[in-house]
Amino acid sequence: MFDAVLVTKDDEGKTSVAITQISEDQLPDGEVTVAVEYTTVNYKDGLCMSPGGGGLVRKFPHVPGIDFAGTVEQSSDERYKPGDKVVLTGWRVGEAHWGGYARKARVRADWLVPLPEGLSTRQAMAIGTAGFTSMLSVMALEDHGIKAGPVLVTGAAGGVGSVAVAILAHLGHKVAAVTGRPETADYLESLGATQIVAREEINETVKRPLEGETWGGCVDAVGGPMLARVLGQMEYGASVAAVGLAGGAGLPASVIPFLLRGVNLLGIDSVMQPYDNRLRAWKRVAKDLPMDKLEEMIVPAVMSDLPKLTTDILNGQVKGRVVVDMTAG
Ligand code: NDP
Repeated sequence: MFDAVLVTKDDEGKTSVAITQISEDQLPDGEVTVAVEYTTVNYKDGLCMSPGGGGLVRKFPHVPGIDFAGTVEQSSDERYKPGDKVVLTGWRVGEAHWGGYARKARVRADWLVPLPEGLSTRQAMAIGTAGFTSMLSVMALEDHGIKAGPVLVTGAAGGVGSVAVAILAHLGHKVAAVTGRPETADYLESLGATQIVAREEINETVKRPLEGETWGGCVDAVGGPMLARVLGQMEYGASVAAVGLAGGAGLPASVIPFLLRGVNLLGIDSVMQPYDNRLRAWKRVAKDLPMDKLEEMIVPAVMSDLPKLTTDILNGQVKGRVVVDMTAG
């Protein structure tokens, strides 16, 4: 028996969260059983732990945790053997399949990636889904060409934003970080931001669909009215990697930036990335994200902290990357 965060649903449809002992027999089907060493807190984990499973969880009881890193305990797939270090993101693990909020997880071998050389399981989860997605975003911007102006990062003090700031700065870009928390300015500058932009400045309503050509690219974790405004501030032919919707799912935008400025809106999905892309992104993040900057982002936690932290992230109160030590406590 081992500890797991279990989300259950009662006869009246009310969900509740508790740390409970479960057995290996209860784990879902899969070729590989992993002793989870670290997991994280992502926005989606907050949703899965919220009442009703946030509309993401279809079947209860459920173990959330959309990403984890650990050591293979058992494997019926020849690609993995006991003792191998692995990392998992995506494939609806933690939503449709039990995830990393337990001391052990069982998953399909196809969903795993071997831990890239030079990364520990703790560092891999400090990167986690948020950092992996930031890397995918930077790669998408590069594929379409980053222009001369600063690259804007919205939701900058959050998980996706923090890693995007550090990677872009390390690659030599000027980085403008949008935050609603002015107290995070020192933190964002230490990650490499060259300019701090107040959230209200971008959120202000402007009637004109085009403004000055300001940003050479953008990683947007916020969506909603902020994304709509940013589109009209992009340089000619520049791209926006749309990652998230922390500020809303609606997009009250005009087509003018696409028609008259050739702006590209690139959708980023980390969930269904094929193996080769995932491996490429993990290798790049291990290379292009300075590990001292990663350390600055880490908020350490243990399993019993998960219920509070998953609420905090939905309220935009988490700074950087929560790294949960699943071997402790
Ligand atoms: P975090 O909560 O860590 O960061 C989100 C940040 O957005 C906050 O820290 C805050 O930054 C800002 N923010 C929050 N609410 C608002 C608001 N109402 N208006 C403007 N800004 C706001 O979450 P993550 O970084 O983990 O995830 C960010 C988004 O990306 C989420 O929507 C998540 O679901 C999505 N995501 C998508 C993935 C994909 O595959 N496409 C993968 C991973 C995440 P600040 O305080 O600096 O203003």
